[in-house]
Amino acid sequence: MIRTRFAPSPTGFLHIGGARTALYSWAYARRHGGKFILRIEDTDRERSTDASVTAIIDGMKWLGLDWDEGPFYQMDRLPRYREVADRLIAEGKAYACYCSKEELDRMREEQRAHGAKPRYDGRWRPERAASLGLVPPAGIEPVIRFRNPDDGDVIFDDMVKGPISISNAELDDFVLLRGDGVPTYNFGVVVDDLDMGITHIIRGDDHVNNTPRQINVMHALNAELPKFAHAPMILGADGERLSKRHGAVSVMQYEEDGFLPRAMVNYLARLGWSHGDDENFSPEQFVQWFDLKHVSRSPAQFNPEKLRWLNHQHVREQSDEELADAIVPRMKFLGADLSSGPPLRGVVALFKDRAETLVSLSNDCLMFYSEPRPTQELFDQHVPAPIKPVLAGLANDFEAIPDWTPVSIGAQIRAVLDARQLKMPKLAIPVRVCVLGRTNTPDLASVLSLLGRRVVVERLRQNLPTS
Ligand code: GLU
Repeated sequence: MIRTRFAPSPTGFLHIGGARTALYSWAYARRHGGKFILRIEDTDRERSTDASVTAIIDGMKWLGLDWDEGPFYQMDRLPRYREVADRLIAEGKAYACYCSKEELDRMREEQRAHGAKPRYDGRWRPERAASLGLVPPAGIEPVIRFRNPDDGDVIFDDMVKGPISISNAELDDFVLLRGDGVPTYNFGVVVDDLDMGITHIIRGDDHVNNTPRQINVMHALNAELPKFAHAPMILGADGERLSKRHGAVSVMQYEEDGFLPRAMVNYLARLGWSHGDDENFSPEQFVQWFDLKHVSRSPAQFNPEKLRWLNHQHVREQSDEELADAIVPRMKFLGADLSSGPPLRGVVALFKDRAETLVSLSNDCLMFYSEPRPTQELFDQHVPAPIKPVLAGLANDFEAIPDWTPVSIGAQIRAVLDARQLKMPKLAIPVRVCVLGRTNTPDLASVLSLLGRRVVVERLRQNLPTS
């Protein structure tokens, strides 16, 4: 059974890159009927916060990335890391190191002075410590270091990047457990991935360089290796690694900005993966299609316009009911009394083709649930004095027509245009200003029909300019 995981460090919100990693891991598990595990890697005590855990979980829930097991917290598993470290020590594959920070700094400085790459020199490897006559100083909790193989290469076949090989000579005896018993990332991640039976480690390619170390520890534990898949970096439009500077904020910011989670999933899916020419697809389709073979090796570029475009497509494809339900909280927040106007569904139907986001959709719909307050400036600009009697006449006509439908309203407007020898905008814009306090609306007859005859007639009479 395929088992994948998302293992965020809770040091901030769920950003675009993290969300994409989570999405790929989730989709891979779902695609193959496997399990998706959420693990919080909270070992950086200074930077980890509960607020960040909440933000990450909120982001995943919003995107619809449900997990089957967890969340597991690494800080709850300290005894387990100690146990595995003890086993490695007992087998001669790890050892205690008592170097102080000053000593390590000195070691690195000397190496640099000789033009060598700074690395731990293995002086506390038991046989070397003995030959150097090193004695464990009293009162110091040592770190536990991994005895990295001295020779050979670490080779693995990345499911995205292909074969990768690193010489062990490049790797030093890195720390597994700190003095306080907290594991380093490279140790905690291995113990957990093995204990949790992870079969496919899908993550960003900033971790490629950690993988050989992790593989060495896995070998030392005689474990069967999982498969690795490193997804490409995400860049901003300027070719730099994506960061806040590019507007790459928390995924929850996109919720606030009126993006649909399915559009976000669609966009994240396409950031470094493709399915032929398909641009616009549902989360369900993505799960059916997702494979690691089509994850790109080259960096992906984040493009906010593309995301907006996709959101627009998804908004248009949603049913009126779904969209109305989605914007009710926003409308209320904006102060709309939804009982004061026509059913929201009908209003949504009028606007959804031009709505790029739920924010613009709500703002448009709002005009049906609030009193328009046309400004003097609007009147001066768009409602010239000679049109006043025309508007007054139109109000009377509207009162008299037998039924109140877009067709009959449209016919009446056209009749007035013909009789007065006017072009559509000369009448439509003043009507919009008086009835809705704005110059731009979807099809006028449809808008008026939805608003209701009484309201339209009243506003045409009351909101006429006084001068
Ligand atoms: N906690 C690591 C991170 O957030 C997880 C990396 C991994 O998936 O192994 O980058």
